[in-house]
Formats: sequence, structure tokens, C-alpha cells
Amino acid sequence: MNILVLNCGSSSLKYQLIDMNGENVLAKGICERIGIDGRLKHSPADGDEFVADVALPDHTEAVGAMLDALLDKEHGVISEIGEINAIGHRIVHGGEYFSASVVITEDVKRGIEKCCDIAPLHNPPNLVGIEASEKLMPGIPQVAVFDTAFHQTLPPKAYLYALPYEYYEKYKIRKYGFHGTSHRYVSERAAQFIGKPYDRAKLITCHLGGGASICAVENGKSVDTTMGFTPLEGLVMGTRSGDIDPAVISYLMQKEHISAKDVENILNKKSGVLGLSGVSSDFRDLEAAKDAGNERAKIALEVFFYKVAKSIGEYLVAMNGADAVVFTAGIGENSPLVRREVCRYLAFLGVGVDEARNALRGVETEITTPGSGIRVLVVPTNEELVIARDTLAIVG
Ligand code: ADP
Repeated sequence: MNILVLNCGSSSLKYQLIDMNGENVLAKGICERIGIDGRLKHSPADGDEFVADVALPDHTEAVGAMLDALLDKEHGVISEIGEINAIGHRIVHGGEYFSASVVITEDVKRGIEKCCDIAPLHNPPNLVGIEASEKLMPGIPQVAVFDTAFHQTLPPKAYLYALPYEYYEKYKIRKYGFHGTSHRYVSERAAQFIGKPYDRAKLITCHLGGGASICAVENGKSVDTTMGFTPLEGLVMGTRSGDIDPAVISYLMQKEHISAKDVENILNKKSGVLGLSGVSSDFRDLEAAKDAGNERAKIALEVFFYKVAKSIGEYLVAMNGADAVVFTAGIGENSPLVRREVCRYLAFLGVGVDEARNALRGVETEITTPGSGIRVLVVPTNEELVIARDTLAIVG
């Protein structure tokens, strides 16, 4: 059974074809610069990466280029489209409509469309990807896997903002949370790692990548998470501010003579560790700049560590303790510095870091010393595999 996993963004289409007998990735790739010019990078599992400039005026052309690559005599891994048994789509926002993955029907598409208003950058290209797939791969079942679905178990005390209640009723303004497939996957693996049944474990999962969020997972359910109505809330991120006083928005509009949209753009794209440091949003660059004596890179990193640690503290309170804290995603899996500095704030709980294991990158491991008050783990995430497993479970 081969499952094609698609992640369709505004100008890119990422794909993986996974053979579910053994869960092996047969090929993966990305169509970039859709609507601009177009480039395809395609990597078969048993061959070299293939890169080509191909005209990609729209997403349908991108799906076509991906299929050409998958079917190609030299770089391809299948000989006919029928070898794709089902398609799993990563959908960013399912609002309150979807609390689990579903087979895509006309009704489901309408639900995804209704969420375009609250996820204008993500849901429209997700829908276009579904429609392009329907056109070029007719008859192949498609499943939607939502970033928000795992967090639909948040209780009202966690998801309601203290705004006039009518805005929740009228506009569904509330915390939704994102990175749900990642938090679900790493929390399940972490429970296995510590040998505790998932439905009895308390876990704090830290997905630290370009976007970053933390989730409190209690008895297998998300009970709180740092991202909110949009992915802007919560932690300091590569280019996103995370939490700020909302009064800053109107103040900046007045002072800089700019619109609300302009401020939103600053908060999403020019803030975070990039805005603070003026160096980069990439932690490799920031760590190098700090080592070279750059003070603003150093303070940007400190702000980041402090916010991550404080959010872990919130969730220790929310769940009345935790069995493990888990690091994942680009930064969480690869930065010994970030893990060590965050763990420093947990020393009062008896958390001690094993530096040899903390030096490992991208492998599943425990980084705390024996007898630590809370165990701290690194679990590489695999959102594509979650999407493929859900798709398989649904289409059978
Ligand atoms: P996203 O999918 O949100 O773009 P990823 O989970 O791929 O993010 O994480 C990307 C980030 O991971 C990069 O911006 C970089 O800051 C960080 N990263 C990757 N490798 C390392 C490393 N060796 N050390 C520190 N940070 C790293």
C-alpha cells in the first residue's frame, strides 16, 4: 500500500511517497516557486537527488510535475499512477469542525473552506492542492489530516480568551493550536520510551523549529498549547514575536503610521530572534554569532530559552507535574545549546543533563542523568508518517 503525503503551501508543494509495508519512504521532493517560475527537487530513496527548473504556473502543474518525477524512467519509483493507493493532505486549520482526520468529501472541502478566513495563508493553498490532486489522480481516495485536530480536546478554560464572549460565538475567536500531528507523534513515542501507557502519561512536548510551540499532553490528550488563534501566539520564534502586549499593536500603528496588516506582517516576519538579533532567524547562525561575541544574538537566544522554560513551567502547573519533557523539530532535535539552557531552568526539579547524550543530534534519546526529577527526551518528529498512518487507517 503506497500513500502519497502532500503538504501544499502558497508557493510550494512538498511530497513523500511512503510504502506502508515497512513504512519506507520511496521518494520525496518539493516543487518550489509555484506561480513565480518553478523548480523541482526529487529524491528517490535509492538514487541521487534530481533538480530541474520546470515551469510551475500553478499547483495543478506542480502536482503534474511531481507525478512526472514519480513516474520517470530514470528517477521514478512507480510505473503507473494506480500504484498510489491513497493521498494524505496536511491541512493547517480545521477550526472547530474537525477533531480527527477524515476522508475528503465535498462537505469536508466546504469545512476547510470555511476556515480560510482564519487561516488565509494556509487553507487556500491546501484546498488548491486537494483539487489539483482530484483532477490529476481521479478516483484515488484522499484524506485530510489537520494541524489543529489534536488540540480540539483543550478544555474551555484553556482555549477561551477573556474577550467579550460574543466574539467567540460570532467569529470563533479562541485558541486552536497548531503542530498537532507533531505533538501527537512525539508524545506517543515519548510514552513508549519511558514505558508508561499513553493514556496515563503526562508529557510536555516542545516543537522548536522555524515555528515553535509547546503542548501539554495529559492521558493522551492535548490539554493546552502555546500557539493560539493563529501560529503567532506563544513562544518567541524564528521571525514571529510570540506573546506581546496587544496594546503594542495600536501604539506601533500610531507611531509608525502603518496599518494593522503592516504590524501583523512585522509580528510574523520581522520579529522573533531575527528581529531581536538583526542577525538571522536560523539558530545555527545565531549560535555562531553569539560565539563570535555578538551581544544581540546572545540576548535573542536568552529571550528564547527563557520563554521556552517559562512555558514548560506553566504546563507543569497545568498538569500538576509531568513524566517527561520532550524536544523535537529542527532546533529541538539539533541544538545541544538550546536543550542545555532550557534545562538549566529546571534544575530546581532535580533535572541534570548528560552532556555526552545531549551532544547527539537528530536521534531519539534521553538527555537527563539517572534519578532526574523529570526525564528530558529528544524525539525526532515525523509529521509525514503520521499523515500516512492516518490515511492508511481511514482508507484501510
Ligand atoms: P520548519 O519546518 O518550521 O521550517 P524545522 O523544524 O525544519 O522548521 O527547523 C528549522 C530550524 O532548525 C532552522 O531554522 C534552524 O534554526 C534549526 N536548526 C537546524 N539544524 C540546527 C542545528 N544543527 N543547530 C541549531 N539549530 C538548527
